Amino acid sequence: MKNVKSAECIMCKTQIKASPNITVCPECGGILEIVYDYEWIGKNTSIEKIKKDPDRSMWRYREFLPVEETSAVSGLRAGGTPLYSAGRLGNLLGYSRLFIKDDGLNPTGSLKDRPSALAVVKAAEAGISSIACSSTGNAASSLAGSAAAAGLSSYIFVPKRAPAAKVAQLLIFGAHVISVQGSYEDAFRLSSEAISRWGWYNRNAAINPYLSEGKKTVSFEIAEQLGFSAPDFVAASVGDGCTIAGIWKGFKDLFAAGFINKLPRLISVQASGCRPINRAFEAGNEILEPADENTIADSIAVGIPRNFHKAVRALRESNGITANVSDEDMLHAMALAGKTTGVFGEPAGMASIAGLMKLAGKGIIPKDSLIVSVVTGNGLKDIKSASKAVREPIKCNPDMESLLAAFEADEGMR
Ligand SMILES: *Cc1c(COP(=O)(O)O)cnc(C)c1O
Ligand SMILES: [Zn+2]
Repeated sequence: MKNVKSAECIMCKTQIKASPNITVCPECGGILEIVYDYEWIGKNTSIEKIKKDPDRSMWRYREFLPVEETSAVSGLRAGGTPLYSAGRLGNLLGYSRLFIKDDGLNPTGSLKDRPSALAVVKAAEAGISSIACSSTGNAASSLAGSAAAAGLSSYIFVPKRAPAAKVAQLLIFGAHVISVQGSYEDAFRLSSEAISRWGWYNRNAAINPYLSEGKKTVSFEIAEQLGFSAPDFVAASVGDGCTIAGIWKGFKDLFAAGFINKLPRLISVQASGCRPINRAFEAGNEILEPADENTIADSIAVGIPRNFHKAVRALRESNGITANVSDEDMLHAMALAGKTTGVFGEPAGMASIAGLMKLAGKGIIPKDSLIVSVVTGNGLKDIKSASKAVREPIKCNPDMESLLAAFEADEGMR
């Protein structure tokens, strides 16, 4: 890879060669980060070149991605999701320039399709034909989809609570699905043991440094959709911490290459019932206190975040802000965003909107800031939660008399 210099440990700064199946730092076990040669990138791509590229997928930023020049990258079309101006929702919340990046429109319905697209390329580079991960749900369904497209077999460990729609996706994509009767932490541990036993390619997000490199492409798109500039704030929900760290890496890469001239501030949104990253950041330390996984938002129910340090550092470097939201806040955000924007997000997907609601009017975010809320997952993935956010439909018999009676009886229709 001509664009990549090395993989560097974020804790002890040890540098190692960026081979396809590296995991954590061999010295201290810390998380690795991919280091680029921005001079090479600047010589080999440009804003003009990117703008002319007819490929709408995340691979339009290939010069910024850690794959071999000769690697084939076909497969599912990850990326290329819309950035909507959410004026009416913004007005309701008290923000005059609110945008929604709808990453629920990726091929399997979540932002995780970006890292999964990268993971299958790295597995192929490593010469491994089976790939595995543990996941709260979306990384799993997305990996299974990408693996199916690439002709790899996949082994997926999900916790007992993974929503039915996500498990159905896995099975449809032909994955070997192991439903671990325990928590996400239990699923993670068992998958790690199985991966080392059978030598599968490891797509566990926090262990595999290439995955946040896939996630960062959401920031490239946001910047490009804003005319190659950075927003003032980017809000995203946080579980393992890999997404927010990836978002930060994306803006930092663009800044380092001179494609944007400022960096945004990050808004980390966690569930009040499971907020180990926000708690550490708020306390001003980097001490991981494991939390209960007490939230309906399964995608961010991560009591022991594997990318804890990377996430806390991203928040610190970006002068970040935290918001902790209840299940009720998320359900309310789902319904309000749904009816004012037409975007349907799962609870963790709409947590970013819930966080912005919570911060509104507190004087922390200036009213006229350019804010991007990343909706990380599609609402169809968890309709059980969605139906908690809204009322029942009006029921009537198939005749006008019954319809009139039903309208009369219904408060909203009277
Ligand atoms: C995975 C996921 C997140 C959080 O990403 P992390 O890397 O675990 O912090 C948020 N929302 C959705 C929908 C997800 O699938
Ligand atoms: Zn180290």
